[in-house]
Amino acid sequence: MKTSWGFATVIKTPKELILFDTGGNSEILLFNMRKLGISPLSIKKVVISHIHGDHVGGLEGFLEENDNVTVFIPASFPQSVKDMIIDKGAKFVEVSGPRKISDFVYTTGELYGPPEEQSLIIDSKNGLIVITGCAHPGIVNIVKKAKELMNKDVYLVVGGFHNPPISVVKEFRELGVKKVAPSHCTGDLVREAFREEYKEDFIEYGVGKIIEVENN
Ligand SMILES: [Zn+2]
Ligand SMILES: [Zn+2]
Repeated sequence: MKTSWGFATVIKTPKELILFDTGGNSEILLFNMRKLGISPLSIKKVVISHIHGDHVGGLEGFLEENDNVTVFIPASFPQSVKDMIIDKGAKFVEVSGPRKISDFVYTTGELYGPPEEQSLIIDSKNGLIVITGCAHPGIVNIVKKAKELMNKDVYLVVGGFHNPPISVVKEFRELGVKKVAPSHCTGDLVREAFREEYKEDFIEYGVGKIIEVENN
């Protein structure tokens, strides 16, 4: 795998593959996808969490490889990004409120950071799986929002937690979050605090890692 500062993850449901964020660089994204045996052409939906370059930077190059996709972007995105998606031959959907993306997959809708950011919620039989890009609106706020929207317990939180105070670990326990996979912009100290508290429920996450969720 090639590594760099950024975040991208592919979600595989029984129905389809969804690309959530594209990292900062499409060459790295496409290289790593191929290494993992995921053809860029197998993706039909792309969801972009927020406007920062380490999440949206790989989008243009990805669309050059596969324009047969719908890109779910925060409605607040600048016109230049919307024009770029159309120029490449793809479609976009502007997301403001919460909505369904696919069977089992929902977005929280835009939450304010700054910037506006959307996170994904997967409705698994084990409970909710929340996937965040950078969590600018606050990781605890996002988890609360997911619980409130779906009215279910949270099984796993994956992604960038944006360097929250250490007290986040206790708040996660209070919210009943069962497993954590903090990555990207979480911060080393917080990640270590999660590792200590969650033990076997702490999942090491980073480039090339695959998390398989079995229905219990
Ligand atoms: Zn960001
Ligand atoms: Zn980021």
